[in-house]
Amino acid sequence: MKKTFKSAIIISVILFMLLGILAPIFADTAADFEANPAKYETMCRGRIDEENKQICADYRQFLIDRASNNKDLANELAGDLEKIKSDIVSNLGRIQDYTNMIAEFEANIAQFELDIANKETAIAELEVQIKEREGTIKGIEDQVKAFMVNSQSTMRVNGYIEFVMGATDFADIVRRIEGMNNIKRYNEGLIEDLRVEREKLQTDQDLVVAEKDAIEDNKILIEAEKANTELVKVAAQQLQEQLVIQKVNLETQDAAIKEQIAVDEAAASAIVASGSFMNPVPGSQIGESVWHYSGSYGGGVHLGADLPAGVGTPIYAMGNGIVVVADGGCSTNGSWGCNGGLGNHMAMIFEVGGTIYGTLIGHMAQGSFLAGPGSIVDQGAQIGSVGNSGNSYGAHAHVEIFYLGDDSVSAALERWNSSQRTAQFGLGGSSGGTSSTCDARGGAIPCRLNPNDYLQ
Ligand SMILES: [Zn+2]
Repeated sequence: MKKTFKSAIIISVILFMLLGILAPIFADTAADFEANPAKYETMCRGRIDEENKQICADYRQFLIDRASNNKDLANELAGDLEKIKSDIVSNLGRIQDYTNMIAEFEANIAQFELDIANKETAIAELEVQIKEREGTIKGIEDQVKAFMVNSQSTMRVNGYIEFVMGATDFADIVRRIEGMNNIKRYNEGLIEDLRVEREKLQTDQDLVVAEKDAIEDNKILIEAEKANTELVKVAAQQLQEQLVIQKVNLETQDAAIKEQIAVDEAAASAIVASGSFMNPVPGSQIGESVWHYSGSYGGGVHLGADLPAGVGTPIYAMGNGIVVVADGGCSTNGSWGCNGGLGNHMAMIFEVGGTIYGTLIGHMAQGSFLAGPGSIVDQGAQIGSVGNSGNSYGAHAHVEIFYLGDDSVSAALERWNSSQRTAQFGLGGSSGGTSSTCDARGGAIPCRLNPNDYLQ
């Protein structure tokens, strides 16, 4: 989108420069319109001088084209906005995933720390047991040593002789010596067993130390993964901020473009070059008299002209202007009383020959509207179709014409917006009798004109 927007600007600038050079030859070009809107607003609002009619028609076309291009741009922007919004949602999902992963890593790390603490306790316990074994071994070794030293010293001096001599016979001597050896062997065996036991404890301890090391390695790995995930999460959060900024920028651009569209359309609606009235149902002849019905219909008040035509016959805009009311919802046939008896009806403000008019067309076909409130329509553009809705005895278009002033469509639109806001421009229906005619009101705006004078 940005690229398109940028190249559009570049092309406009080049065009503007080119047209600036050519300006003396081709007056009143798009570039002039773009550069001097105030000049053309003044020139083309309200009553337009004859020599400016073509320029104003061109200016109006320029505004309509620009609004149309901006609508394309707005559609493009809407697509970009949708994309960014969906990116924001999926990126939020990613951030949530990373947050969950980090929480999981933290739980793992906590578990590892617990495991490591348990292993350290086990190692310490084994250490104590090993020390105990070593203490016992040392004790026995000391005993054996003491025994041997004692017996040797006894034997070296006279003790051994006394010990041997103390024997009653040779067998007793042998038995005594054997007894001493047995004690020595027993102690040596005991020491050996304790050593084996101590070695086993040492092996156990080594194993636990290895397990603890492995857990610590795992913990380091998970901590690294956690750190990576935190980095990725930060990146995703930064992306999120950028996406939100982009979204706000797009929304700002979108609002600016829409504002420009509204300004251009309002300006275009205020510049009307329709030279004469157009019959909204070409070829149809007025079928019922204005102000009062004919005697055969009872002679009641009738504020419009009736143009008979078959259901579905196109109804066209009588002049260039803007639609202000489009009330539907009535069945094409048999909806007596619907929308106050007007049935499906549409009201427009437009200018013909410097005068601002309002028009109300009633009894249209259900679902036939081709324009809605705010639509800028050109004279001759189809706005809907003939129907038989509301208080109608047969398919026809009921047409009322109002005089709204001599200034401009935009001024009349402003008056309509600020006060009446009805399809009858605040004048009410037939219950008010003929007091709303321009004759009765002395030409005070708004007032009803005789449609007979405008529908030929
Ligand atoms: Zn009528």
